[in-house]
Amino acid sequence: MQLYKSLTVVGFLLTLVTCATAADKAAAFTNLDLAAANKLRERALADLSAYGLIESLTTEVGARPAGSPGDRAAIAWALREMQRLGFQNVRTMEVMVPHWVRGDAEFAVVAPWPQAMPTLALGGSVGTPPEGIEAEAVMVKDLESLKGLPEGAVKNRIVFFSNRMERTRDGSGYGRAVSVRAAGPSAAAALGALGIVIRSVGTSELRFAHTGALRYTAEAPRIPALAISNPDADALVRQFESGKSVRLRMTSSARELPQARSANVIGEVPGSDLASEIVILGAHLDSWDPGVGAIDDGAGVAIVMTVARLIQDLDRKPRRTLRVALFANEEFGTSGSRAYLDAQHGHVDRHVLGFEADFGAGPVWRLSSRVSPAQLPAVDQIYRALAPLKLARGGNEAAGGADLEGLAKLGMAVLSPDLDGTRYFDAHHTVNDTLAQVDPAALRQAVAAYAMSAWLGAQYPGDWERVTTPKASGR
Ligand SMILES: [Zn+2]
Repeated sequence: MQLYKSLTVVGFLLTLVTCATAADKAAAFTNLDLAAANKLRERALADLSAYGLIESLTTEVGARPAGSPGDRAAIAWALREMQRLGFQNVRTMEVMVPHWVRGDAEFAVVAPWPQAMPTLALGGSVGTPPEGIEAEAVMVKDLESLKGLPEGAVKNRIVFFSNRMERTRDGSGYGRAVSVRAAGPSAAAALGALGIVIRSVGTSELRFAHTGALRYTAEAPRIPALAISNPDADALVRQFESGKSVRLRMTSSARELPQARSANVIGEVPGSDLASEIVILGAHLDSWDPGVGAIDDGAGVAIVMTVARLIQDLDRKPRRTLRVALFANEEFGTSGSRAYLDAQHGHVDRHVLGFEADFGAGPVWRLSSRVSPAQLPAVDQIYRALAPLKLARGGNEAAGGADLEGLAKLGMAVLSPDLDGTRYFDAHHTVNDTLAQVDPAALRQAVAAYAMSAWLGAQYPGDWERVTTPKASGR
């Protein structure tokens, strides 16, 4: 029995080895390509230019919410930098974007124990009348507990959502908590609430409120929505837990202006024998306005631009074309990537492989993918080439990111060097998203991981087949 079992195991292992060898032979990277990947790693780990790009963008442009003067300055900045880096076919693609203006916001507990707390309006929120809204408040944990309240419980009240986001490396904590920000305002308004305040969907214990887009439904009245920081939310919970009735006051001058012109900015490193096939490197040029968008998404912009420049500087052209796409208005409705997709009539299938960088400034801790099963051996080879960067091997359910989601849904393969999100939500969408949040060594490691995998993706000797498996829901 024991002997039979061992023989079976040996047989099984031999089969595995044989299969892997056969698949590798079918489409193995050349030694020249692997040597170039190693050269990219060495150069990226010694290269200071990604940090320099974030420094330049955050200093010379700063905040760049859709439709703002900063948004237009960022487009000019990206055109100038892509030309300076020597990219080909540098161009803009015009996009209309919503133009929401934050204005000022104030939030205070009126009773039982009065105190003011720093606050931010949620992106897209309507304002309050100039004198503000003051009302009795109801605390609920999340959307589920709001639904469970007796009828009329929140009518003419302000609703406070108290749920705390969990810190995770892969962003799943954000994914689970963020629905209250998007859907909370209309859910509460449908039940007659006058306004909402949420505990920030962030992980900082500092007094930074976290903004981000809300999504009003057509059915419910539009009510104002604010966020307060974690420590202030804790203090507000204590006021509720006293059992006394809690009154809140909120004031906001947020408003929506007519739509404005913005643009995606695109540049390329042309391919050679497979130039008609595109490996797209995406990030977004806009940012929320409280900070200067260093980690969201100055870092992604810098990573994809530096990766393309490092590959361009090799002594060999990539086989496939690398296209750097800096998308307009990811934050408030992904206008840029939707316009990009609309403009691809008949060209969607040319996008064979996508990379998105929109999860901070590194390091990369894992390599995930969403490829056709036939390309999994290629991903394994890329993973082995990246071994010096000490990554974990992720699964084949990569979500990519918000901007490449449309192309991925239409079958584009995705390689995802996963950025470590453990500390990302400490500063993301807060006033504290500044250059000080960027660790230059982690950023260089991230550039190395993206550069090696983008290069090998562009050199892959097989076909990047269309992916037909249903897309996993991502963060
Ligand atoms: Zn982002």
